[in-house]
Amino acid sequence: MKLGLHLSIAGGLPRALDRAHALGCQAVQIFLQNPRGWRWRPVPAGEIAEFREKRRLHGIDLVVAHLSYLPNMAAVEPELFQLSWERLHQELTLGKALEIDYLVCHPGHASAEAASFDRVAAGLRRIITETPPPPLILLENTSGRKNELGQHIAELHRIISSAGVPLGLCVDTAHAFAAGYNLRLAHGRRQLLQEIAQGPGLAALKIIHLNEALFSCGSHRDRHWHLGQGNIGRRGLRGFLAGCSPFVQGVILETPKAAPDDDVLNLAAARSLL
Ligand SMILES: [Zn+2]
Ligand SMILES: [Zn+2]
Repeated sequence: MKLGLHLSIAGGLPRALDRAHALGCQAVQIFLQNPRGWRWRPVPAGEIAEFREKRRLHGIDLVVAHLSYLPNMAAVEPELFQLSWERLHQELTLGKALEIDYLVCHPGHASAEAASFDRVAAGLRRIITETPPPPLILLENTSGRKNELGQHIAELHRIISSAGVPLGLCVDTAHAFAAGYNLRLAHGRRQLLQEIAQGPGLAALKIIHLNEALFSCGSHRDRHWHLGQGNIGRRGLRGFLAGCSPFVQGVILETPKAAPDDDVLNLAAARSLL
């Protein structure tokens, strides 16, 4: 399993690879654009070429992108729906040019659940047929806040099987814990792995977002925390990693960055868990 963190693209996309290299990572996750805005920054051809070159130079084996926060693939409002899928298409196209391996997406939020799953699946079928992998789209499990889809593996499986195109899975440990999978206990870890095995299959699980949870199991509150200092605990995280190590390609930390050495400390904690 390659280890890395979500890192900033401030100063241009290739800078994230420099930051990953400086931290001794073989993997990295980035946003391709400002994640909190709809504005699209066209990335110059020179920057794309530099990104690909830097990756080889630094020996970064695994590059993951995370879709921006604003797109909602299950949106009911036609305008937001349109905007969301256009944005996903733009990021997928840019990801292909950058030779990125995976694009992690949340399935979206909507209240009329039954229709939402089919709408998301149909959208994915269309977009992936048009722009086949790489990057492979990975659906990420969520903490199940409000109308958030995808808190249970069965929901993600429903989208993946109904889409009928290549799709994978990214499991976030903090989201799973907040959604009610008690990773602190062997029983909870087994339950999550069993649901994956019986749903999309363990081979679909490509990336783990290794995060501690600040709030309690089943709280549906999405607050990532420092490894070893949250409610899942070191044993819980280590046990889960051991259970999925034969399948997973990369482990990405999305831990808080409040102090300058937080990344270094969380990476050291992750290495001790692996
Ligand atoms: Zn995410
Ligand atoms: Zn995550």
